[in-house]
Amino acid sequence: MTNKEIKIAFEDYTSIDELNNDDKALCLEAVKALDGSHSPYSKFRVGCALRLQSGKILHASNQENVAYPSGLCAERVALFHWGANHSDDPILSMAVTAHTDNFPLLKPVTSCGGCLQVMAEFEQKQGKPIEVLLYCQKGEVWKAKGIQSFLPFMFFENRLQ
Ligand SMILES: [Zn+2]
Repeated sequence: MTNKEIKIAFEDYTSIDELNNDDKALCLEAVKALDGSHSPYSKFRVGCALRLQSGKILHASNQENVAYPSGLCAERVALFHWGANHSDDPILSMAVTAHTDNFPLLKPVTSCGGCLQVMAEFEQKQGKPIEVLLYCQKGEVWKAKGIQSFLPFMFFENRLQ
């Protein structure tokens, strides 16, 4: 038996003002996307914005349903919309933010495992890394240069062989 360790790398910014202009703008687009959230049950709104190679920005938000498992996270709403309509225009980066009136969010909200897996597959499909920006409106931003940072054991079909 051997013990193994994996290190992950991401950048930690104390304010969006430390980001480059494109990244800062994308974080603010994710904030705008919060308005489209349908979250009457959790009261937890999540906004996501994708910046495509063409410069186009796509917005998405979490969509809940009274039949709870029928809802979907903002990230997957964004990625499936991209996959269905814009997959010839690679995703350069993705910003995610969240808001609730129920308690203060003091740190960036991280994506769930299901969303990370979908990000990983689309990243592989487009053959280019997707930068991920997790933005806490209180200030902090975590930025990863690709999905591997947040999902080092991502599942791929070729792992089945
Ligand atoms: Zn998710």
